[in-house]
Amino acid sequence: MTTRANRSAGANVYVRRRFFLRLVVNFTLLAIFYCPIAGAQSNASRQSTLDTPALDKKVDELLGKMTLEEKIGQLVQYSAGQATGPTSGRTDDRDMARKGQVGSLFNVNSAHATNELQHIAVDESRLHIPLLFGLDVIHGFRTTFPLNLGLAATWDPGIVEKVSRVAAQEASAAGVRWTFSPMVDIARDARWGRISEGAGEDPFLGAALARAYVRGYQGQRLDAPDSILACAKHYVGYGAAEAGREYNSTEISEHTLRQYYLPPFHAAEEAGAATFMSAFNSLNGIPTSANPFTIKQILKKEWGFEGFVVSDWTSVSEIMAHGIALDGATAARKAFLAGVDMDMQSNIYHRNMLQLVQSGKVPQSEIDDAVRRILRVKFALGLFDHPFADESKEAGAMLRPESVAIAKTAATRSLVLLRNESVSASTLLPLSAKVSSIALIGPLADDAGNMLGSWSALGRAEDAVSLRRALTQKLGDSRVHFAKGGNILDASEADIASAITAAQESDIAVLALGENAPTMTGEAASRSKLGLPGRQQELLEKVVATGKPVVLILFSGRPLTLPWAFEHVAAVIAAWYPGVQAGNALTDVLFGDASPTGHLPLTWPRSVGQEPLYYNALNTGRPAADPDHPAEPGEQKYVSRYIDEPNTPQFPFGFGLTYTTFRYGNTQPNAQELSVSSLRQSLGTIGNKVLTVSTEITNTGSRAGETMAQLYVRLDGTSVAMPVRMLKGFQPVSLGPGETRKITFDLDANAFAFWGADNTRGVEPARVTLWIAPDSAQGQPTKLEITER
Ligand code: BGC
Repeated sequence: MTTRANRSAGANVYVRRRFFLRLVVNFTLLAIFYCPIAGAQSNASRQSTLDTPALDKKVDELLGKMTLEEKIGQLVQYSAGQATGPTSGRTDDRDMARKGQVGSLFNVNSAHATNELQHIAVDESRLHIPLLFGLDVIHGFRTTFPLNLGLAATWDPGIVEKVSRVAAQEASAAGVRWTFSPMVDIARDARWGRISEGAGEDPFLGAALARAYVRGYQGQRLDAPDSILACAKHYVGYGAAEAGREYNSTEISEHTLRQYYLPPFHAAEEAGAATFMSAFNSLNGIPTSANPFTIKQILKKEWGFEGFVVSDWTSVSEIMAHGIALDGATAARKAFLAGVDMDMQSNIYHRNMLQLVQSGKVPQSEIDDAVRRILRVKFALGLFDHPFADESKEAGAMLRPESVAIAKTAATRSLVLLRNESVSASTLLPLSAKVSSIALIGPLADDAGNMLGSWSALGRAEDAVSLRRALTQKLGDSRVHFAKGGNILDASEADIASAITAAQESDIAVLALGENAPTMTGEAASRSKLGLPGRQQELLEKVVATGKPVVLILFSGRPLTLPWAFEHVAAVIAAWYPGVQAGNALTDVLFGDASPTGHLPLTWPRSVGQEPLYYNALNTGRPAADPDHPAEPGEQKYVSRYIDEPNTPQFPFGFGLTYTTFRYGNTQPNAQELSVSSLRQSLGTIGNKVLTVSTEITNTGSRAGETMAQLYVRLDGTSVAMPVRMLKGFQPVSLGPGETRKITFDLDANAFAFWGADNTRGVEPARVTLWIAPDSAQGQPTKLEITER
């Protein structure tokens, strides 16, 4: 890594001795998941799989035999048989495979179908180069796991790795050796439908989960038959779509790009992600699929990426619509010379590249570089050695009991308890198993299909357990009074009336409300209003008006702005879309067989007008003293605030309740003297601890439980303004009732490094504020200084 630190031989940066840190900190646990140096270990595996002399030799030998047409064939990819949608793709898959005119096909999803096409490529094409089959395996292949935002809410790289390992095993059994995942776009705006597919707004959490996905997909060895290629997408800045409108343009300064948007991509690359996907959006006026700065300069040169870059679906031909190419040839040239190695679906490399090379507009050496990258990945994947899937093993690889068990753990850990008020003497949740009857209401209560979320690959509704099914299994038919209460988008008076009756006749009402996953979340599903669709808000209010205690379970691919619910409904769970084990996971949490452990991977706004809203924002020159209240007449004016809404969110990043309570802070003062020296020298040195931060956490309730201790850092006095807080570590802490434990975060210099005004990454003299807190809005600050020696 190039840093200001290792470029300038000059002044040393360290924590001045007299600023020894006296930590009387109030929080957290140890860094099981804390990995301050992105993908240090997997870096080695990347080099060993994609960058070896043995691989180079094979690639060079093959390259030497290829005609220019065959080389261009490797640069193109089509969705098999697909000629509809925004596409100019071809459908003559077999003919193309036979003639060596295609390097990859996607959306071929069974061992039989992939083998059939593979036989044509391997047996009938002149050079026998195998096809690479891809698919959007986004949150599972057949076993559908929680939607990615729900996976992010686990804050658990371990479970994300297991989930993606299962996805890889199932996909590879069908001959699919490449997934277009993980989506590692930082997203700060809930209007954007694809916020559901990523890890939320934070680069540190996003990087940790990016590494986990890559490890899971690519496994220990890329050439193992059950490994699949990861694809870090959408490179880059797609999540910053203006106004949250899908495919919209983005304006991101280089500082913001490097500091916030690039780290999860860099982490994926360092973990060994063999492919990247260029995005749809323009970035500062240049389409990202024709952007030499981000692809060639940053990804390939600065990071040393050895894999290949595929475009997004027709994003090469869309360069014309963006307005920087008048014809297909120019679009092809611009994308290719920017570093996009493979053209997904545009059919534009196929049509133009030969002529571009022959006319000298595209150098032959660039073609060789791109083909070399693609062949290197195919060799590294072992495709030449085992190009076919074993059809006899395909069925047995799907929905294995151990995979379904992982789906249940992931689903349980993805649920975020947002609210849990006292009803009578205790909080409404967990419910007692003795409850005599429950009114189960809402369009999503008995909707197994929706539990699969927005991008479930080969998932089937029949695989999924709905809430109604699980609840009925637990309590028996007679104790569950089901009333659908209408559809997601509409309801009749009779629907609502029957729901009210069900509530009146039961002890408690559980409402399952939210968005329709396939149409309202994910790609091309941006919303300008973030309330409950249809008449669901009315349904909710009428059920609450019965006076029965209400548990609201929200199924959505984004935060929903529901201020009324967060004031009037006793208990609310953000369930996202939990996957095949939805009902079982929810039932366990409702009855306390499992405690909620999920935490928000993004900031939950109060109203759409606050968007984009994110915790790691800058302080501004005029911060509001009381951001919890909108400005009222006569109150502090001329500060950064609204006159009709608080600045603060409904729920902060990192927030999540459980069935016990915790106190962060030392039961006895834990004054610790710590020094940080030579931060710059330490920067980039793996595992070189420069500071230990510790605190005690006490479970102050009467049940065992888990809290997610979060370490935040703020830097002041720096060359560029830094956020009010930045997550730099997190670890789950499980404690029995009344138990206290000291927890420790070991920080290395990376926790204090950032992209400065001179556009290099390093450490600067600064005042440091540290918190260990249960979310991004709590905690007692502790200060230290980094000074120039
Ligand atoms: C999406 C990508 C996806 C691709 C292939 C595009 O529309 O933006 O995320 O991988 O289609 O299906």
